[in-house]
Formats: sequence, structure tokens, C-alpha cells
Amino acid sequence: MLKMPRPVPNELIVMRLLNLREVLSQQEKKNYKNLEKGFEGELKFDLLTEKLQNECFVLNGLLLEVNNSEFQIDTSIIFQKTIYLIDVKNFEGDYYYENEKLYFANGDEAKDPLLQLRRCESLFRQLLQKLGVHFHVEAYLVYINPELTLLQAPRSYPIVYPTQLNRFMQKLNMVPSRLYETHEKFANQLISLHKTESLNTKLPRYNYDQIPKRIICSSCCSCSLSVRRNKIVCKKCNHQEEIELAVLRIVEEIKILFPNRKITTNEVYHWCKIIESKKMIGRILKKNFKQVGYGKWSYYE
Ligand SMILES: [Zn+2]
Repeated sequence: MLKMPRPVPNELIVMRLLNLREVLSQQEKKNYKNLEKGFEGELKFDLLTEKLQNECFVLNGLLLEVNNSEFQIDTSIIFQKTIYLIDVKNFEGDYYYENEKLYFANGDEAKDPLLQLRRCESLFRQLLQKLGVHFHVEAYLVYINPELTLLQAPRSYPIVYPTQLNRFMQKLNMVPSRLYETHEKFANQLISLHKTESLNTKLPRYNYDQIPKRIICSSCCSCSLSVRRNKIVCKKCNHQEEIELAVLRIVEEIKILFPNRKITTNEVYHWCKIIESKKMIGRILKKNFKQVGYGKWSYYE
């Protein structure tokens, strides 16, 4: 039973917007692609946990903190007696272990996700202790990409390889489990402890002047748009969007990229260059947000 749908991490939301507006350096672009790929792997795993038939609560993307340490669990599955903590990796290509270290095929050392998993498991146990809850905890690292080859990993490592994934899911599906009110209470407690923003997010530096202000096609990401009656039409893919929806989308983007800026008619007008009527933008803002103040200094919340 899904208790918590996977939130899109804040970092990824911002990076998507920055990428669309083409302000990322080569390295930042690479980081962004990795984030996107990692998230894609998690969504792929969600499709598998959705099929679990036995009684369990699935919490996706929990971001927690205990004793001043933050940790994130890709997927937590609560059964009657056991909680599974699962970290999903979408790595592809060749890797190997040597002397307990993980390497790329070319011999460069790679960041070992097992270290992160162990830290996570330890912090989760501390949290359970703090909450006075007793569960058996099992942590696994799931490699979900069939294009991965990992050599020389000790058999004792809690790794699920792509070729073992189906059997792993069958094993989870066979866990005998009855959930009671206490489980529900505990699951809700974890959800209430979930943090929406991480302290460890490393966003690229960007400033207001540097960001191109324009509407981007929501379908193909082209900036080549025109206005036809009350619609914005993409010249490249022909996608049509109601002007109102496009304006609301831009407002959302301004809020995400520049949370401290006030949403005013002038501000939004500045971002929606192809919409010639400032009045129309004012009307849309008035209809969808609460106006604070009057006249020249009014803004919307
Ligand atoms: Zn388009």
C-alpha cells in the first residue's frame, strides 16, 4: 500500500529549470543528467513496489534527520515486523571492487553507495530508538539498470543485482505481514518527520540577471512561441497552451528560482514577453492569487 508518493527533490526541480534556460556549465549539466538518471531509476523501482500484494506501507523518498544528521531513504517498506530500507542506483557500465573499494573499469575510484547505505541504516536505527519503536531493519542496495556489470563484490554485501531483482521482489511479496494501527501511526510519524528541503543541496550559483526570462514550450522546450487568441502556440511542435496556464507556470518558476522576489504584474510581464497585454497578466494574477497592497506596490501571494 503506497503511503507516500515519491516527491521530486527540490534540487532536481531547480536544476530542470536552470537546464531549460541554458545557464548550466558543462560540469553542472553532467551533474543534472546524473540527478535525472538517478530519479528515473527510483521511479522504475516504484513500478515494482506498486505490485506488492501483501500488507505493507511503502514510503518513497523520505528525507529525515536524527541527532543533527540528515539522511535520505529512496524506498522504505514497512511490514509487520521488518522494515526494508532500499537505496536504488541506476548505474550502468562496468565496475569492480578491490580491497573493499569500488572502482570504475578504468581504475578510477567511484563513490561507493554501500557506504551511504550503511550510514543511512545506522541513522535510521538511531531514529527508531529515539521514537521508542522496535522493528527488525534490513537495508539493501538495488542496482536497477540491466546494463550494469559489477565484478568482485563479496557475496555478503547486501546488493540486489538487476538479474536478481524479480526474485527479490517475489521475496518481499512473500513476507508474512499483518498491519495494525500502531504501524499506521508509525508510518504517519515518519511522514510527518519528512523534510521537504535538504540542508545538503548543492545548487549552482545563479543570479536574476543571468536567467533568460521567457516562456518555454511545456511540450518540446522550444522558445519559439507565438500568441493566437487566448492560446500560446509553439512554432516548433504546434503544442497549444492556454495563456492563463502558461502565466501560472511562469509564476511557479519565478517562485522556485527566486523565492525572495515579489510576484507583481510587472515582474510576470517581464518574464512573459510574448504576451503583449499587461492588463491580461494582471487579471490572471488577480484571479489566481491573493493581492497584497494596492496600486503600484501591490503584489500577489
Ligand atoms: Zn513545442
